[in-house]
Amino acid sequence: MSTIAFIGLGNMGGPMAANLVKAGHAVRGADLSAASREAAAAQGVSVAENAADIVAGADVIITMLPNGKLVLGVWEQILPLAKPGALFIDSSTIDVASARKAHDMAAAAGMTALDAPVSGGVGGAAAGTLTFMVGGAKDAFDAGKPVLDIMGGKIVHCGDAGAGQAAKICNNMILGVSMIGVCEAFAMGEKLGLSHQALFDVASTSSGQCWSITSYCPVPGPVPTSPANNDYKPGFAVDLMLKDLKLSQEAASASGAATPLGAAAAAIYERFAAAGFGGADFSGIINFLRDGKH
Ligand code: NAD
Repeated sequence: MSTIAFIGLGNMGGPMAANLVKAGHAVRGADLSAASREAAAAQGVSVAENAADIVAGADVIITMLPNGKLVLGVWEQILPLAKPGALFIDSSTIDVASARKAHDMAAAAGMTALDAPVSGGVGGAAAGTLTFMVGGAKDAFDAGKPVLDIMGGKIVHCGDAGAGQAAKICNNMILGVSMIGVCEAFAMGEKLGLSHQALFDVASTSSGQCWSITSYCPVPGPVPTSPANNDYKPGFAVDLMLKDLKLSQEAASASGAATPLGAAAAAIYERFAAAGFGGADFSGIINFLRDGKH
């Protein structure tokens, strides 16, 4: 049994911390929001408002926060308070540059670190089936894997510092682009008199096949569990997709990568969010495209 400090008990962090409790670890959690603290306490997490109050003596410290600035601020505050050699894991989705900076700060303080963003959403967090994309040294990865295994179904060591965040934003750039492509095809199919089911039956088993069709089809019917069958309630909200697409564009410009479709996807999702759909599921972009409002 380890002592684990978990900072950021929101939609993702709350259920992830609960799974660590269920596995028998002593979990201390911190969150600025009273509602998040109460929900985590009900799952057996011993809670505090400030990260600084839960870090001393912890073997593993996990952050699950909204952005890179917050992660760096919290790490700066708590690194001096942690047990020497403690393992810091950041599972937030943040920019690659901040992730690398966090690794450097941890090393300078005598700690080990991993960037370990996730995919799988709130459902995967609750079920303990997240995919973790992990960056950091091999020994840090080996030390962190047993803890990540409790919260995840698949743990991939992607490379050195920042490689987990790089994999996350590359993957989600594919997702943003592919979802728009699938939506354009279904909307065009409608105009050509093609039924949704016919296009699904062909594309889900042909060269157009991708996750946006087979698992998350953006029209009601062919995949009964997709948000299209539930009035496009998330699922994966437009605001989160837009955040990841913006991170991918920051990384593209910092690294000199050409991503014209990634840039177009970011611009289209930005207009969709600005039209008031930031809280809708990202597959709802089909309605925006169909209506020609993009
Ligand atoms: P959330 O807003 O529900 O939770 C974030 C929590 O952090 C909040 O409860 C907030 O009060 C807390 N917080 C902020 N600053 C803090 C501080 N200084 N100290 C302590 N607590 C603080 O967000 P979420 O949906 O849980 O997402 C967390 C991260 O996971 C984000 O980086 C997001 O991009 C990523 N992510 C989310 C999903 C998803 O489906 N929600 C999927 C994959 C990745």
